[in-house]
Amino acid sequence: MKKVIILWLSVMMISCHSAAKFDGEKAMAYLVEQCEIGPRHPGSTGHEKAKNYYIEFLKNYTDNILLQEFDQEIPRDSVTFHLTNIIAGFGVEKGNALLVGAHWDTRPRAEFDPDPARRHLPILGANDGASGIAVLMHLAEILAQKEPERAVYLVFFDGEDYGYHDSNEFFCMGSKYFAANLPVKDITEAIIVDMIGDQYLEIPIERGSYRSHKNLVDRLWKIAKDRGYDGFQKQMGSEIYDDHVPLIEAGIPSVDLIDFTYPHSYTNYWHTHADTPDKCSAESLEQVGQVVLDFILGK
Ligand SMILES: [Zn+2]
Repeated sequence: MKKVIILWLSVMMISCHSAAKFDGEKAMAYLVEQCEIGPRHPGSTGHEKAKNYYIEFLKNYTDNILLQEFDQEIPRDSVTFHLTNIIAGFGVEKGNALLVGAHWDTRPRAEFDPDPARRHLPILGANDGASGIAVLMHLAEILAQKEPERAVYLVFFDGEDYGYHDSNEFFCMGSKYFAANLPVKDITEAIIVDMIGDQYLEIPIERGSYRSHKNLVDRLWKIAKDRGYDGFQKQMGSEIYDDHVPLIEAGIPSVDLIDFTYPHSYTNYWHTHADTPDKCSAESLEQVGQVVLDFILGK
């Protein structure tokens, strides 16, 4: 009898543990699927296709999907883009909402590409775009099976990566609109994931995040340490303008998980045509996805 109980308990523990496992290979498959659509910058056919792909995907996992659509004028380019933030809610009646966000658009130009003749062309955005969203997609799948004890909103921000480097004005357009027109009211804190698929994962603490929400930084890095993940480095990195900034300015304490470090000069493919899936790894996605998942589930 005793043996049976022990066996039953261990089966329970195994099943609990496996329910909370973030599978980096699955996330990697979603990264590749996004890149197969092609570049996904505002105004492109890939942008429209990707939007529909995300919506159809999320419909499998929640009925609580909100599309926050708006028109964004870019006077310097004489264009107006139709942009869409996609918001997927889980356990929304439970309050104390956590926002987990990433940007789904990709950059319309490759200004740092070594080939000047190709700098005006849009990038594929495997790491810069698809990686963060791949983590959110797999989280949606898991949260549909294991409803969190608090409200969780997975937010796919549009229009993050359009801007020019002389100004922040046309960066983070989706998160700016979201923060100015909050479509859900009870968000108490936020985690942004961006550029977290690089196979040489190095995530130092982003300075603005530390000022905004030190406690959340400490908890995330503690989870990573307990898991033995070497991609999270408990040292101060630089300050980065990303989707967490408009949220912080709107009063939502936020942390940006971002890998802006490239250990070798030849691996710096940021905003070039070399930002392709072969530079990313399932293991990196798993480290980030598992840390966020453990935090959501209160581990
Ligand atoms: Zn970018």
